[in-house]
This record gives sequence, C-alpha cells and structure tokens, in this order.
Amino acid sequence: MHELPVTQGILSVAIEAAEQAGGRRIVAIDLVIGTLSSIVDDSVQFYFDILSRGTLADGAVLRFRREPAILVCWDCDYRTQVVAPLPALCSACGSTRLILRDGQEFFVEAIEIEEPPPEESNNESSSRQGNSGEQ
Ligand SMILES: [Zn+2]
Repeated sequence: MHELPVTQGILSVAIEAAEQAGGRRIVAIDLVIGTLSSIVDDSVQFYFDILSRGTLADGAVLRFRREPAILVCWDCDYRTQVVAPLPALCSACGSTRLILRDGQEFFVEAIEIEEPPPEESNNESSSRQGNSGEQ
C-alpha cells in the first residue's frame, strides 16, 4: 500500500512543474520503475486518478517504463540483467558475491505539459462581442 505516498509525491512534483510553466495542464507523466520495485503500476494509476481530480494534473496519462535490474559479480565482473527471483550464484564463475545495481528505483522522468494556446486566437472572440443574438 505504499503506492499512496509515492503517488502523492509524483503529483506534487508534476503540479509544481505545471505551475512554473504558467499553470498549464499536465498531459502526461513519464515514470520509471525498476523491475524489482514492489510498486504496482495499476495502484499508482488508481491513486493518481483520485488525487489528481480538480488539479492541473486531472486527466493526465501516466506512462510507465520498467528499468531492468543489473546483477554484477564482485569476483569476475560479469554483468547480467535480472528479474525476481534473483539468482544466488554468478552464472559465469559461480561466485556468491553479487552486487545488485538498479532495478529498485522509482522516479519521474518527464512531465508533458499542455502547449500554450496559439497567440492569434483573440480576433475571433473580439469580433463576436457585438453579436449577442448569436447562438
Ligand atoms: Zn562471477
């Protein structure tokens, strides 16, 4: 259930970025999750949909990218991508001294913010002012 604070973190980072960009809406958020992380995509999406209601991130799409974990052998420097369950021995030399790199991270990689409206769109609205009968 630790997706809730994680999702709150994502949301506050994204909203801060959107406010700095002039209060425009957030279209999409790119997230990186390590393959060994216990974070569940669907749970993050679930909390995000609830928490983002009425904010600049309302309706934003979450895009998840799974980052592989790398297991490095201390003895022979053999590197291999791994998924859970982790191997106990180096598949190259049989050593048990293995170091896990990456695979447990979780962070916001990019935030996509709505394009500003085209600047020459006020001609139309100003010409409409004297025409109140229009429906
Ligand atoms: Zn090895």
